[in-house]
Amino acid sequence: MAKGIPMFDGYLVIGVLTRQGPEGETSAVGLIAIDTENMDGPEMGLTLFNCANIIYATGGPAGMYLTSVYPESHTGSSGIAFEAGVRGINLTESQYGIASTKFRWNLSGTYQQVIPRYISTREDGSDEKEFLEEYFENPGQMLDAIFLKGYQWPFDPRKIEGYGSSLIDILVYNEIQVKGRRVFMDFMHNPAGSLRGGDFDFSLLSQESCLYLKNSGALLKTPYDRLEKMNQPAIQLYRDHGIDLKTEYLEIAVCAQHNNGGLAGNLWWESNIRHFFPVGEANGTFGIYRPGGSALNSTQTGSLRAAQYISAKYSDAPLSMEDFCQAVATQVEDRIRMTRNLISGCGKGSNVLEFRARAQSRMTASGAHIRSLEACERAIRECLDDLAAFETKTQLACRLELPHAFRNRDILLSQYVYLCSIRDYIRSGGKSRGSYLVSLPGGRLPMDRLGDLFRYELDDGSFFDKVFYT
Ligand SMILES: Cc1cc2nc3c(=O)[nH]c(=O)nc-3n(C[C@H](O)[C@H](O)[C@H](O)COP(=O)(O)OP(=O)(O)OC[C@H]3O[C@@H](n4cnc5c(N)ncnc54)[C@H](O)[C@@H]3O)c2cc1C
Repeated sequence: MAKGIPMFDGYLVIGVLTRQGPEGETSAVGLIAIDTENMDGPEMGLTLFNCANIIYATGGPAGMYLTSVYPESHTGSSGIAFEAGVRGINLTESQYGIASTKFRWNLSGTYQQVIPRYISTREDGSDEKEFLEEYFENPGQMLDAIFLKGYQWPFDPRKIEGYGSSLIDILVYNEIQVKGRRVFMDFMHNPAGSLRGGDFDFSLLSQESCLYLKNSGALLKTPYDRLEKMNQPAIQLYRDHGIDLKTEYLEIAVCAQHNNGGLAGNLWWESNIRHFFPVGEANGTFGIYRPGGSALNSTQTGSLRAAQYISAKYSDAPLSMEDFCQAVATQVEDRIRMTRNLISGCGKGSNVLEFRARAQSRMTASGAHIRSLEACERAIRECLDDLAAFETKTQLACRLELPHAFRNRDILLSQYVYLCSIRDYIRSGGKSRGSYLVSLPGGRLPMDRLGDLFRYELDDGSFFDKVFYT
């Protein structure tokens, strides 16, 4: 803004336009977008950008998941980049952890250290019960696992064994995805197993957990009291979003939080498609175990390096209008046809959000922190069916829903590529690592009471010196 550079707010990019060079190399030459403020006219809002270079900072493909702690408006746009031929790298690697779903927020730190009660109910809210305790050998183990979740927040298969904190993520998934129940955290009451004479028995805790609470002056009656003492703003935050932890339960799930893989770039963040620079979370630079804080640094580092490279090497003007039109005509015609098809049925009701929720459920169940080859292959087939039927099955109430429809398409494209990558990793013998468990028939069960889906083995590190291109 300070430099007077025009900004085009309110445009949703729906396609990356490319052209083939004389030596067979592909270059990005533009974008096709929808001007979401002007979709009524004969152009349907479709707008072309003739670009010399594209710095693509669209974030992680968060829209793929039903349970997600990304801001709701951030769905990502990796799908259309894949469609244009941009390669993916380490798409198997993402981070997942426990978060609230009504208001999206990571439940790390003090939210767990105050040791709330975990309950589950049927879909309609009936049949409330505490579900963690039956899986642990004694209450102390369970209380410590909850406490540790505070600073071992993302799901990590290395922290399952020995009744570790990542068991909690598995048990939450088991309630929601396997048993079809809803899960809540309750700060009003202590877990039943912790009580002696009606009060929380702090002697059940390990020395580490107990000392931490003692030093925080939080050997208090309820989880709410402890949270109020240790982190009042944590309570206020929910209050500001209409949730009072003093009087109500907090619905939770294991949610997608970060994409560590993504679109592949070189040292200057340029992709295999020339003049196309994926930066920030869209770029898969983060590896298997992302150090906290590195994401926000990367958004700045990548875009700076891309800008340096562009100013040194790629400062030519965009194509002439004639060459541009010639290069992108077929690609643009395809989007015009697609847009016309989508709006042709306007007015007969809408299924865009339902369509999205169905696709998202598939990914949360099969391509998030618990993955099996069988479920993944099934999800790929469903995804391909959805993509093939996308234009005919999508029903828009009115043109205003066009952006939702194109986001859905991007979500399907992203899911397809990510799921293929997960499938290939498992087929290659890849095991549990990072923030996911690969279900392995014949692997060990975290505990007897869990189903075979959760049999796993830890990755032995044999893939650590490799990256995974898709
Ligand atoms: C709950 C949570 C907590 C986090 N905490 C930390 C932390 O403590 N430290 C840390 O380093 N990182 C943290 N992260 C990660 C970090 O916030 C992200 O990696 C980072 O913000 C990504 O920035 P970005 O600019 O790449 O993408 P984003 O911030 O996701 O921005 C992408 C933008 O692109 C726009 N966009 C997408 N597609 C299109 C399209 N087709 N057309 C037009 N616009 C489009 C979106 O609307 C959005 O504005 C956290 C993430 C979450 C979800």
